[in-house]
Amino acid sequence: MEFAFELALCAHLEATADAVVARQLGAAVAAPGSRVVDVCLVEPGPNFGERTRITDATVPPLAVESAVGVGEWVRPRDAFESYGEYTTAVVDDAVAAGFFERRHRGGSEQIRQAVRYPEGWFDRLVAVENKPDLGTPGDLERQLQTDASLGLFDEVVLATESYVTRAHLNRIPEAVGVWRFRPDSGGSGAGGDGADTGDLEVVREPTPLDPTALGVEATARRSLRTDVAFVSGAEKARKRRRIAERSYGKGWRTYDLPPCAAAAPTADGRPRCAHYGRVVDPASDCGADCPGFDAADPPAVDLDALRATRSPWVRDPGGVARRQSGLDRFL
Ligand code: SF4
Repeated sequence: MEFAFELALCAHLEATADAVVARQLGAAVAAPGSRVVDVCLVEPGPNFGERTRITDATVPPLAVESAVGVGEWVRPRDAFESYGEYTTAVVDDAVAAGFFERRHRGGSEQIRQAVRYPEGWFDRLVAVENKPDLGTPGDLERQLQTDASLGLFDEVVLATESYVTRAHLNRIPEAVGVWRFRPDSGGSGAGGDGADTGDLEVVREPTPLDPTALGVEATARRSLRTDVAFVSGAEKARKRRRIAERSYGKGWRTYDLPPCAAAAPTADGRPRCAHYGRVVDPASDCGADCPGFDAADPPAVDLDALRATRSPWVRDPGGVARRQSGLDRFL
């Protein structure tokens, strides 16, 4: 149950680390989409408070990277490298996020930043790759090798439930840290205090990587050769901001609680099922064809309220409108 393992780890990290915790983030630079990390920790930087005051959603990275500044009004078509339907949506979302403001003059649209984007709002980024069972490692070794040679994150850690042997450690790149995490079953249920997420033992500390240095990313693997791309520190910095933004907007409670009478979420909001006595994945486990399904309203649990209470993320700062507009397309 990789899903339950991942949610328990996220809940544990949220309770124990001073960081924004998010899951399933794109983490390739040269070949976007080719690498997704399971969990990302975004540690607050000195300007974190300024960032929280803008919006609780993702500020569209293309808006941050555009030539739209704070003082001067500009036409959108003059501020983006290529302008079209896609960038129109970026502008709309940046306005909705309160990052851009918009006016109309002489029949044309003008925009500017409503607030300066706070560089330095995040500090270290830590990637965690989950592999509950090291007996079925799949592509794990090569993924971790790429993470270590690319150096996009400040640290990379492997989390597993398996007993970690010396042979396992020898196969995992030296810079990658190793945690043994034994999750709870979500058994505390709705009445629990949410502290019961599992035990985490540090088997090996990660070695810090250097995100400012030139990195090497494997872009394609064939039987006899691996294609690689060199990734500059500047390209990595841009990707890191994208990951931090996406993490801030997304978090880890990315599921809907099931409309089933057996749904009994844990106190930290994980989708526990009373019928099976464990955390389930609503997207794949729940529905009318589940033997225990009993149609009902979803549990009245406000997942965003839980996130706001339990993490540095600030919900609805200054009454900014909440948006749910598929920001994945900006990454
Ligand atoms: S649909 Fe099935 S797995 Fe989902 S909460 Fe109901 S009984 Fe549990």
